[in-house]
Amino acid sequence: MDRAARARLTRDILIGMFTGLLLGSLVHWLDISEDGVISVYFVNGLFDIGGSIFIASLKLLVVPLVFFSLACGASNLSDGAKMGRIGGKTVLLYLLTTAIAISLALLIATTIDPGVGIHLATNAEFAAREAPSMKQVLVDIFPTNPLRAMAEGNMLQVIVFAILIGVAVSKCGEPGVRVRNSLNDWNEVVMRLILMLMQVAPIGVFCLMVTLFANMGFEAIGDLFKYFFTVVLVLAVHFALTYSLLIRFLAGLSPLDFYRKFAPVMAYAFSTSSSNATLPITLETVEHRLGVKNEVASFTVPLGATINMDGTAIMQGVATVFIAQAFSIDISLTGYLMVIVTATLASIGTAGVPGVGLITLALVLQQVGLPVEGIALIIGVDRLLDMMRTAVNVTGDATVATIVARTEGQLDMAVFESRND
Ligand code: ASP
Repeated sequence: MDRAARARLTRDILIGMFTGLLLGSLVHWLDISEDGVISVYFVNGLFDIGGSIFIASLKLLVVPLVFFSLACGASNLSDGAKMGRIGGKTVLLYLLTTAIAISLALLIATTIDPGVGIHLATNAEFAAREAPSMKQVLVDIFPTNPLRAMAEGNMLQVIVFAILIGVAVSKCGEPGVRVRNSLNDWNEVVMRLILMLMQVAPIGVFCLMVTLFANMGFEAIGDLFKYFFTVVLVLAVHFALTYSLLIRFLAGLSPLDFYRKFAPVMAYAFSTSSSNATLPITLETVEHRLGVKNEVASFTVPLGATINMDGTAIMQGVATVFIAQAFSIDISLTGYLMVIVTATLASIGTAGVPGVGLITLALVLQQVGLPVEGIALIIGVDRLLDMMRTAVNVTGDATVATIVARTEGQLDMAVFESRND
């Protein structure tokens, strides 16, 4: 896609997002009957079908993309020590950004006190799911059956399998060269599929936004005003401050260039509420607009979509403080440290799909002895917060990918600095 076409596409996606948001909000505001023509045939008919097909097509690409892209990347990185360094740096940065995110959340939430004076709904109900043990999470990273891992979309297992294949290919001499060429060709084909899908993205994003906002219950924000805006405030601070400082000081790059190029991906993340579904677009943008070489991007981005959720951790930090205050339970300093550690670890092994943050929140609450039913209090506004925190989640992935690439000499500066797209 040439630069002018890309610029047009970015503009169209943003237009699709905002017009969808406005139209959906208008439908919601007019309070149109659920059995009426507009609701049945358009909002929950045509637009819902369009949005669902768009999400399905994005998801369709995730497994083939991660496999081919990462196997290619690993097969090109024949230097084992370098691979280990990139892996270590990536995981460390993901943990660091998440720990900063949740610390910010706790700091700001304990200053604003969003839960003080809240009157509890006595019928609050939330059934917590059984949390997997840390041991199980670690063992489950390794696949026993790669096809099942792919069929179930188990991203960490697909990542491990792809890396192993890539490493084997790089050590195989002549046959390895043939397989690598074929993997590179397949990677090109999947990338082309993403570009084809991006052509219809403005319509897909528009459909998703109309349906979501027409059906969204904004009334809940009224009671949870302070909670809602505390989460939004911390998300904004982390997004605008933490990431720009890291990009500026760890990578020595202009944060403005980074945000400008990455903006369309945030629109996808916002409208799909899923880091996983956004993954094809994140990877395409990180490689072709930010200039991160495939060797680094193919590993950092899929891993980030699965284990790095800064926005989710922020929601969990604020929610913990909110629920503790609403139930008038004091959390000690060790309790807060527990929250930081658990929320940072909780996101590992949980796929980036809509609403998963609430499930892992149960884990965090249990760790510090807070009632899990408290989650019922905040469910009403979670849909909208999910959209915003997913946009922050994917930005965190791209930030780390850019820093790792820059410090490893794997960032194409000509692409990063080009201003024509
Ligand atoms: N929807 C988020 C994501 O996919 C996860 C969550 O916070 O629920 O990144």
